[in-house]
Amino acid sequence: MSDENGSKIIENSAQVSVLLPLVFHEAFDYRVPAGMDIRTGDYVRVPFGRRSLWGVVWGKGSFTLEEKKIKAIECLAAHLPPMNETMRNFIDFVSWYTLAARGPVLKMALSCPDALEPPVQELRYQLSEQSTIRLTPARTRINAYLSGAVPRSSKEITAHAKVSAAVVREYIKSGGLKEVTGCLLPVAGSGKGTDPWPLATGHLSAAQETAAAELRKKLAAGFSVSVLDGVTGSGKTEVYFDTIAHCIAAGKQALVLLPEIALSVQWLSRFESRFGFAPDVWHSSVSAAKKRTCWRNTAEGSARVIVGARSALFLPFRNLGAIVVDEEHDASYKQEEGVIYQARDMAVARASREKIPAVLVSATPSLETEYNIEHKRYTRLHLPNRYNDAEMPKVQLVDMRSVAIERGNWISGSLRQALLTTLAAKRQAMLFMNRRGYAPLMLCRACGHRFQCPQCTASLVVHRAHAKLLCHHCGHIVPTPKQCPDCKHEDCLIPYGPGVERVAEEVRALLPDARIEVMTSDHIDSPAKAEVLVNDMINGKIDVLVGTQMIAKGHHFAGLALIGVIDADMGLAGGDLRASERTYQLLHQLSGRAGREKTKGEVWLQTYMPEHPVMQALSMGKRDEFMLLEARLREDAGMPPYGKLAAVIVEGKNEQEVMAFARELVRDEARGAMGTGKSDVTSFLAPISLPLILGPAPAPMFLLRGKYRYRILIKTERQFPLQQFLSRWLLERKIPASLRVKIDVEPYSFM
Ligand code: ADP
Ligand code: ZN
Repeated sequence: MSDENGSKIIENSAQVSVLLPLVFHEAFDYRVPAGMDIRTGDYVRVPFGRRSLWGVVWGKGSFTLEEKKIKAIECLAAHLPPMNETMRNFIDFVSWYTLAARGPVLKMALSCPDALEPPVQELRYQLSEQSTIRLTPARTRINAYLSGAVPRSSKEITAHAKVSAAVVREYIKSGGLKEVTGCLLPVAGSGKGTDPWPLATGHLSAAQETAAAELRKKLAAGFSVSVLDGVTGSGKTEVYFDTIAHCIAAGKQALVLLPEIALSVQWLSRFESRFGFAPDVWHSSVSAAKKRTCWRNTAEGSARVIVGARSALFLPFRNLGAIVVDEEHDASYKQEEGVIYQARDMAVARASREKIPAVLVSATPSLETEYNIEHKRYTRLHLPNRYNDAEMPKVQLVDMRSVAIERGNWISGSLRQALLTTLAAKRQAMLFMNRRGYAPLMLCRACGHRFQCPQCTASLVVHRAHAKLLCHHCGHIVPTPKQCPDCKHEDCLIPYGPGVERVAEEVRALLPDARIEVMTSDHIDSPAKAEVLVNDMINGKIDVLVGTQMIAKGHHFAGLALIGVIDADMGLAGGDLRASERTYQLLHQLSGRAGREKTKGEVWLQTYMPEHPVMQALSMGKRDEFMLLEARLREDAGMPPYGKLAAVIVEGKNEQEVMAFARELVRDEARGAMGTGKSDVTSFLAPISLPLILGPAPAPMFLLRGKYRYRILIKTERQFPLQQFLSRWLLERKIPASLRVKIDVEPYSFM
């Protein structure tokens, strides 16, 4: 027997296996109490140790334990449909792909255990028909309040009839009020609006309509991946709104992933004005109560559109019809903690299991996505021009090698001039400096001492506004010192290099009358603060916005004419495989904020490497040429997406132990490979089918949060069964309790 969820009633089963949101891969056996009907996928609460936890029925019991050792299921979330088979398969897949145990993956899907508790039904009362009850002034007020025949809770009655709780209690006891059963409180969720929303596409431009029509066709055609590739301001959002409208008109749910949902005030209000209701929002700073409602509505199928950060991908959709991944190239889709996964790729995996379309949206699709287009797995839908013929901004390079600039200043003469002209014309400007704080380093001028984090391989960053030095990796804080700890000199400590606060200080000196604001995660720690700042920008209350990558995200400011990038080369430093690609994408997205309407936009990039392919591509608008070059370099090096990578990080408090264990891992693998006679050590140099194992080497962040780190990099051909190899090598091995081994399949961070 199988229902629409693919959930079988487990007939006559005295035991079932229940997967729990803990560190374990395996499910545990539990006894089914008499009279409880259990299906695969049911949410059940079970005792575990001294706790009681919600888990999911994963299948039949294994019957390997003695009957009396098996504990019984405590309760079943009968108010919710079971987790469907597609979702359970998806959890299995994510676990297999990332090599994370199944429990932690399930934990992401059960991120709101409160939602599983049966809803507390507040009792509600109506007037009874008895007429013999003595009336008091207080009771008369209650009668008046309840005369509309709508049942109310005692809380509502006390508030509206202005009586005490005791009066209500007595009135109930005397029989004047009767309890009304079966009346749930109205669910306070959003996404349930009944207003119609426009399905008409008359407002779309010809290019937009062509793309939208393609996507509409995909809605009823099973799994597909489309890449909505359009220049910034071409109306990509407008096009996928059309897809969503048709998806929900067909009675299905839609999921939109956004990289910085907490900053997306403009996106939300645009959605609301288009659809007439607010979507359900899912990200880490949403309140517990809202999460509970959102999770339940998603599971029940009543939430129509969910917009969220990567974790929204693990919501238990009842009836998902499409997944949109906006800014698909954004690095924040890679989760680096806990279960290490790439949400864009897992979104495609989920869409494939749900047999629905995925839409990846970007002005600068990632090389991974380009590869999949080239190999005909994904289809490109192109929007080549800005909506309404708005022009693309003009991008100019400032060669910082030939610029005379005063010590302690960071803004070149050309950019200063552009700022003055822009503000004189009553237009807005943005300055980009991708480093929080005032300066990246505090230095002693007398002896050269640098202030380092004691727990990380990192300098402490100077935050002048709060008079502190802060580690951006572990949060370690010290008050700004007055004296050098080494040479004991006073007045010799200088902040070295620029941070966003220092750039703002320079702008204030240059433009004393301008209204200047700073936008970084230190200043904007809640969606509400982001909203204030974004609205001030829209309403022209800010002249110059100085910020980190937060200012590059999705904003549409009609009056924004100038963008200055203080250090365009910053992202190119370091050995990151994707450094060029990412720098290009970030600066391109940032540039795309300028001149989105009638105002013409200009962008100034300050660089010490004007001949670098990234700078050349940005200034000449040659995206495709740049990506081709990048693709060739990666292909020659056998790097992703042309080859596969995995990183293994061994961490622990004892440096010797970490090193020894990392070496042992690699030695054992080499021995394992030789043992099978498949290779000798020399073949690691010229891999044909065996992976190349690099390291172990101390990680660039050798010390992080007080733990030493060694990295091993595994590089293979694309066809190589990487998961099988890693699990055979690493998962069956006993790891000392003092160490942690992190496996990162397709690493994005090389720190
Ligand atoms: P993108 O997502 O490609 O950056 P947007 O969808 O944000 O582009 O569109 C850029 C601007 O143009 C927005 O202000 C949007 O409201 C407007 N726009 C785009 N397409 C249309 C359309 N068909 N009708 C009305 N306004 C549009
Ligand atoms: Zn630190």
